[in-house]
Amino acid sequence: MSESEITWPDGVRAAAAFTFDVDAESCALAHDPAMTERMSVMSHQSYGPRVAVPRILDILDDHRVPATFFVPGYTAELYPDTVRAIAERGHEIAHHGYLHENVLGLSEAEELAVLDRGLAVLRDVAGVGPTGYRAPWWEMNWQTPRLLADRGFRYDSSLLDGDRPYRFATGSGSGSGDLIEIPVDWALDDWEQYAFFTGWTGSGVIESPTKVLEMWHHEALAHHRWGGCFVLTNHPFLSGRPGRAAALDELIGRVAALDGMWVSTLAEIAEQAWATCTATFTHTRPAVPAPTSPAAT
Ligand SMILES: [Zn+2]
Repeated sequence: MSESEITWPDGVRAAAAFTFDVDAESCALAHDPAMTERMSVMSHQSYGPRVAVPRILDILDDHRVPATFFVPGYTAELYPDTVRAIAERGHEIAHHGYLHENVLGLSEAEELAVLDRGLAVLRDVAGVGPTGYRAPWWEMNWQTPRLLADRGFRYDSSLLDGDRPYRFATGSGSGSGDLIEIPVDWALDDWEQYAFFTGWTGSGVIESPTKVLEMWHHEALAHHRWGGCFVLTNHPFLSGRPGRAAALDELIGRVAALDGMWVSTLAEIAEQAWATCTATFTHTRPAVPAPTSPAAT
């Protein structure tokens, strides 16, 4: 185990976090503003905050499990009561852009403007100051972590290079200049299992919730075995549908029952990492090598 990685509290063998990206209409509009003309697509997205989030909140209550909800600012503006309910039920609200912007290629000033707009809306609507960030589409520029540290964020959950939270350098002059990363995994994202949109994205196959339950349960058992951090990413408009919500309910029960499994919010897990990581990891941007030329003869 690397010294930049977390040490779990006494009695804890592994951790699990159930996270929900409440994208609603924002991801469709960020992909193509003309999506607003498609009433049916918009209705599919609004199902998340209107129907699915209340169901998910009840499931989490039943298991007495706290969760992390990544909320784009635009979602908070459209559905303030839903976002306030998430906070009032004791869950963490974290940053997920304003309009689910893909920040790739944005300048630092443009990225900061998006960060600040999202922060302002979450503060005004729900009275929260998020400590965590997840990049829309899990896409970051190399500069993004430094900007997050500049704004006082404590952790990010967008990178894919670990099974356990770790501390890393951002180059920021703010505080220690470090950030905690809580890595994610495409195999633990419901988009790949359930997303289906005519003319937009999706595999064309909507997977069975019983297959997805089996796959995610297997992953949770493996994280438990190796002392990892199981981070599940769900979108309410996908995983809040009845059959899928029933499978998620079953999964949460199984994971929470594992011996020594700490089910918590990403914010709490990040603070444990801050307290126990004794070294700092540094990411290295690969240099693209020069093309290989035929040998001179
Ligand atoms: Zn998202």
